[in-house]
Amino acid sequence: MQEANLNRPFILALALNELSMSPLRTKSLSNQVYRCVCDYIESSNDKGVLVLTGGEPFLDLRFGEIISLARSRGWLTSVDTPCMFQERPLLDDVQQIRLRLFSLNPELHNQIAGEEGSFQKTMAFGEWLASNYPGEKILIFPVCRENFGETVAVLDWCRRFSFTPNIFIVPRQHEYALDVQAYHRVLKELCRLPLTDIIIDVPLLGLMGWPNLCPGGRLAMFIGVEGEVKPCPHFPYPLCWLEEDIPGAWKTMQEKIAVMNEACRLCEHFSICGGGCPANKTASGKDYYCPYCFSGRMSEK
Ligand code: SF4
Ligand code: SF4
Repeated sequence: MQEANLNRPFILALALNELSMSPLRTKSLSNQVYRCVCDYIESSNDKGVLVLTGGEPFLDLRFGEIISLARSRGWLTSVDTPCMFQERPLLDDVQQIRLRLFSLNPELHNQIAGEEGSFQKTMAFGEWLASNYPGEKILIFPVCRENFGETVAVLDWCRRFSFTPNIFIVPRQHEYALDVQAYHRVLKELCRLPLTDIIIDVPLLGLMGWPNLCPGGRLAMFIGVEGEVKPCPHFPYPLCWLEEDIPGAWKTMQEKIAVMNEACRLCEHFSICGGGCPANKTASGKDYYCPYCFSGRMSEK
């Protein structure tokens, strides 16, 4: 895999808000960062993909404005929702919807989502989308310690309701992260799945001949509510802050990722795994789950 050399992110992921549960609190994206992103989209000659993710994008009053701005400039639009809205949202100008399902067992889904009633709302919205929404429907299935036996059942659900499954493995710092042995069992199971009509962004699968579909830091940049810049929302800390403009933040983030990948660049597998999942990097710069990183892995944080 080549190091990315785009001078701007092709996928711009943005959190309009951040939610914390019980009691429910919302923290909104700062207006300064919001304006900076809007100005960028407005003045950009290149088309990209705007992904609204993190929190509940549909709860933010600026949702309609930024989505229609992106469409008017020819960008594709995608919304990642945990279905925490009260009234069914308007989906004009939204070309892709992404729902997150942790389990087909309602109690387990609610437990991992951290919200009572989340399963019912997700299923109800998913079934409504199946009959009424003409755009692309993605079901994100974050594989973790509690749900890794459910992949086949989740794929069946996707077929029934015409959703494209997007499988990824939750990063190592997630409360429900897999241990190393379970992670490799899951990789083997994922390899048995058909390669068509399914999105799997698990970089280490590159070692088994799968394409690395992780866009984090290669094609995509995530901006959080305080302007924190990361390769993807799951990355544990900001690599920089949106201070001046998006191309500048992208350049800084890429430089930081190149430093993080220094150890991996010497590895013969770098061209296929790209240094693994940035969110799983240890202090030595290797992927925590990488089979070529055995020495000292358990003590590496
Ligand atoms: S050390 Fe592991 S994570 Fe790094 S490039 Fe090699 S295989 Fe990939
Ligand atoms: S960086 Fe890791 S967690 Fe983020 S999209 Fe890529 S594979 Fe997934």
